[in-house]
Amino acid sequence: MKNDFDIIVIGAGPAGTIASCKLMKEGFTVKILEKMEFPRFVIGESLLPHSMDYLDELDLLKCIEDQKFQLKTGACFYHNEQRCDFLFKDQYTKGWDYTYQVKRADFDNALAKETEKKGADLEFNAEVLLVENGPAQQKVKYLNAQKEEINITSRFVVDASGYGRVLPRMFDLEVKVPTPPRGAIFSHFDDSKRTEEDGRNIFIHAFNNNTCWIWSIPFSDGSASVGIVGDASNITHYAENDGAGFKKMVADFPGLSGRYDNVEYKFEPRVILNYAVSVKQLYGEGYILCGNSTEFLDPVFSSGVTLAISSGYKAATIVSEHLKGENVNFEDYSIELKKGIDVFRSYVNGWYNGTLQTIFFSDKTNEVMKSQICSVLAGYVWDETNPFVKKHEKALSTLAKIIEM
Ligand SMILES: Cc1cc2nc3c(=O)[nH]c(=O)nc-3n(C[C@H](O)[C@H](O)[C@H](O)COP(=O)(O)OP(=O)(O)OC[C@H]3O[C@@H](n4cnc5c(N)ncnc54)[C@H](O)[C@@H]3O)c2cc1C
Repeated sequence: MKNDFDIIVIGAGPAGTIASCKLMKEGFTVKILEKMEFPRFVIGESLLPHSMDYLDELDLLKCIEDQKFQLKTGACFYHNEQRCDFLFKDQYTKGWDYTYQVKRADFDNALAKETEKKGADLEFNAEVLLVENGPAQQKVKYLNAQKEEINITSRFVVDASGYGRVLPRMFDLEVKVPTPPRGAIFSHFDDSKRTEEDGRNIFIHAFNNNTCWIWSIPFSDGSASVGIVGDASNITHYAENDGAGFKKMVADFPGLSGRYDNVEYKFEPRVILNYAVSVKQLYGEGYILCGNSTEFLDPVFSSGVTLAISSGYKAATIVSEHLKGENVNFEDYSIELKKGIDVFRSYVNGWYNGTLQTIFFSDKTNEVMKSQICSVLAGYVWDETNPFVKKHEKALSTLAKIIEM
């Protein structure tokens, strides 16, 4: 068994497989260690169009298209009786005008299989226990499917362990985020009552004075992911008695007009609390972090997988340059990634403080500005020709003030 590689990647979620494909394209050998057996459930089912750029670039689109996932052409936001549609075909940035709503078990499995086909040595049921980093060689200890401890080495480690946060925990990199503790409760429901239009868009509806929101993400097999995000205390309350409060809320929610009333749900509601996290640094001697291992803010704009994919690609690019002997500054990776994350941060803050509601549900927002905001919602958060990217926070607050005048 081979035990030395150019790169060891921890985790076979989207960040890990994209980083691996980019590194293999640059000529490196890659070992991926994945704790679980695939397909496995993970939340995060609505993609953004910008993710398609990376899938296309790495020749991964066909394996995704073969899955016949539900087409997603926009996002639909509601507040009380008001509705605001963003269609990606109307966006300012010249980019993809569609993407998919995916069951992540199938999406991640398709990417993992294709990554293996391209040459990655992918081992499932392989849990990373220890990483000893050094200037030239990284030592990784993991537990294999037979519960044996295995030691392997590489020139570099990419941590794409998502919610596992392997290196942030091991190297004490975690920092608290200054957002209120929030959580989510969700399940998959039969969605046979939906209209054709319901099927094309993610549905997001704020309630409880913008402190909570409900999502519905339709899948191509006629089911849908439905969940509620809110203060951790609210979510804990919805989860009591096997999620009775959640099930009732979903069945009776006015904006959903009975779409999930008296329908089958596919599994008992699951809860995730306090998912917002960050780190002090995104790289160190012999390692780099990407995907949810770096920072996760909030799911309201479905940015998680797109950021995982784009950070996996960007991390692999700089690691490749470094290993080829180019003089790189890893801080450039941090700055670049944070630029995109900070754009989403302004939009997330604007969602909860009401700024975005003012903008979304006003007839004073002109079409040009709406198309620029639409590009952010499509994931094009590095297009600095877009004023709603370049001066994200200011652009949103100024527009909201003008509308309110
Ligand atoms: C409520 C909620 C709703 C969300 N909705 C959306 C959405 O609609 N759209 C969206 O884009 N994002 C959404 N997200 C975010 C999304 O879940 C994540 O951003 C995304 O899964 C991150 O991908 P990743 O590749 O970084 O990590 P993951 O997908 O978590 O993959 C990491 C992999 O690492 C493996 N791993 C962990 N520890 C170890 C170890 N010790 N050794 C080996 N392997 C290990 C895990 O088994 C896993 O397979 C949502 C998040 C939440 C909380």
